Amino acid sequence: MGSKQRIKFKRTQAKKPLPGKSVEEIVRELKGETGTPTDYRELSLKIHGLICAKCGREFAPKDRRLLTVHHKDGNRLNNPADGSNWENLCVYCHEDEHSRGLLGDYLRER
Ligand SMILES: [Zn+2]
Ligand SMILES: [Zn+2]
Repeated sequence: MGSKQRIKFKRTQAKKPLPGKSVEEIVRELKGETGTPTDYRELSLKIHGLICAKCGREFAPKDRRLLTVHHKDGNRLNNPADGSNWENLCVYCHEDEHSRGLLGDYLRER
């Protein structure tokens, strides 16, 4: 077989995986408020379960959008990975918690 010369595309793949975070997550963080809160929300649901912390109502996975993440200290940028600043509240209790106003931000995510 022939004298075909192979051209090697040799690229040094310097793609080191970032510790912990994906690029998307970092970009989202840099964008700040414009990013969707979906990430910590899923995490919070995973940690605390699909139960409203206030009324104790349980939700099926398909109804998970009715559960929102409330920040105990009121700071939406404070999102410790252990979930210590999160509370899962159903939309009704969450509205109650904030007595309207801020909740618009949570519901606009999709
Ligand atoms: Zn509730
Ligand atoms: Zn809240």
